[in-house]
Amino acid sequence: MVTPATPLLAQQLRKQVRYGLSPDSPALINEWLAIDRCCYQGFYHGVCSTCCIKEQQSYLELQFRCLLEAVLDELVPLQWRCTCLDHIYKPLFNLKKICNDDDSKQRLQTMFSELALMSSYFNASLTGLISQQSAASETDNILENLRK
Ligand SMILES: [Zn+2]
Repeated sequence: MVTPATPLLAQQLRKQVRYGLSPDSPALINEWLAIDRCCYQGFYHGVCSTCCIKEQQSYLELQFRCLLEAVLDELVPLQWRCTCLDHIYKPLFNLKKICNDDDSKQRLQTMFSELALMSSYFNASLTGLISQQSAASETDNILENLRK
């Protein structure tokens, strides 16, 4: 097992993402998704052949949870919540690549369901707040594609 890339930076970025501390820097999310992983190989290739699948899954699931919490947190700036929603499919997409048994497929399915539920909730809560270019409907399209 290889040690995490840069745990401290990863943790700092995770906090920034979760609480929307830099709402004007959407690039932070990709930076964080890239480094809050099992190791350097995960950093460069998204999915890694060195660390055990379970460890990779736990990092990706953590990324998903963190983004989901940010999206649902009403104390987080709205613009940032939309940005998080735009990126939340990424950890799920990587998880899909490494699902290797019924258990992990089941877990992924649960996350898809949670996301679908959450994005319709979020969408409804936004009605009247922002224009119709809702991030939630975009997420629905991405989910549709992922399921195929
Ligand atoms: Zn790794």
